[in-house]
Amino acid sequence: MPKSLFTHLECARCYRELDGGKPHQLCSCGSPLLARYDLDQGRKTIGDPAVLRDRRRDLWRYEEMLPVREPRFRAALGEGGTPLILASRLGERLGMSRLLIKDESLNPTGSFKARGLSLAVSMANQVGVKELAIPTAGNAGGALAAYAARVGLPAHIVMPRDVPRANAVECEAYGADVRYVEGLITDAGRLVGELSAEHGWFDVSTLKEPYRIEGKKTMGYELFEQLQGRLPDVIFYPTGGGTGMVGMWKAFDEMQSLGWIDDRRPRMVTVQSTGCAPIVRAFEEGTETASMWENAQTIAAGLRVPKAIGDFLILRAIRESGGTAVAVTDESIREAVLTIAASEGIFAAPEGAACLVAMERLLEQGWLDRGETVVLFNTGSGLKYTEALSINSAA
Ligand SMILES: *Cc1c(COP(=O)(O)O)cnc(C)c1O
Repeated sequence: MPKSLFTHLECARCYRELDGGKPHQLCSCGSPLLARYDLDQGRKTIGDPAVLRDRRRDLWRYEEMLPVREPRFRAALGEGGTPLILASRLGERLGMSRLLIKDESLNPTGSFKARGLSLAVSMANQVGVKELAIPTAGNAGGALAAYAARVGLPAHIVMPRDVPRANAVECEAYGADVRYVEGLITDAGRLVGELSAEHGWFDVSTLKEPYRIEGKKTMGYELFEQLQGRLPDVIFYPTGGGTGMVGMWKAFDEMQSLGWIDDRRPRMVTVQSTGCAPIVRAFEEGTETASMWENAQTIAAGLRVPKAIGDFLILRAIRESGGTAVAVTDESIREAVLTIAASEGIFAAPEGAACLVAMERLLEQGWLDRGETVVLFNTGSGLKYTEALSINSAA
């Protein structure tokens, strides 16, 4: 019997309802679609999270709250179930006793993009999509290429020519059709849009299909279980397209409806690079959406997203949570990569390391209390960024 409690899709802006049994991109109003579930039934079947205790460790342990109807549709490689590591040496130096790193670099393909693309490819498989396409700043392309290979679907990937080299190499290794553009992910996105319209490919761009966010939301469920039924006080999240922010925020609402948590939420902190900080700027200016960031440049490739389609959802989550948004320099990010690596043995992606810089700033400003339970998201592996990070080693 199918365990998924998925019922339908709902537009995040106009609340129109759509049938999840067919392929969908954006709502006709231009906004992202979100998956909805039978939460009344959910309260009966998984209202007590203890029922999950003996299940598999990967993200499929939350199968009721995922849209995939049957295991045969799954594109699975062991995604999710990543460790939440107490950063004790770093914490001690900063006078913090509950500093934790959620280490997403242990996902297949070395980044948390695996969670989202596993779900997107599974659902494409379920609804009968034949070919997939994606624009990418780096890691999303690698993840799509891997999961498409896993289920035998062709993948078309468009990326800026200057993405980290590992990202290009892995996509080609997985047998994807890879194209390079001069410019940024937004330029790649435009080309994917044109090619998809021409060839009938299904575009799995961030939030242009409804299910990547469903994979990413499992990070929120995992935090709750790993903290023995509590959520942290503050979450630092390096934000590009924002699926992780929006996904976890959605997970918290679902968890409240299931009866797992009350209405308290972690304060959500968006972290970006000073070389591309559209969400930080919009947060500071108090606007509902973010305008395009010109001449975006940063070594944190996943943050080089000058315009996010889900900007209003990211900003809503930051504000409703009582969170904030911080931009940090590439120079400070490089240092933080080395600090985290040398003090905790975690070789973080620049995106993840940016969270440490932002956290130190908020500590200094008194925004953050040293006694709070704080989670930094290391969203990927530093091994993919060796060109940008090998500063002192032999050339
Ligand atoms: C894509 C990416 C990000 C940004 O994630 P979003 O959920 O799109 O905001 C952060 N870090 C890494 C390593 C990434 O690959």
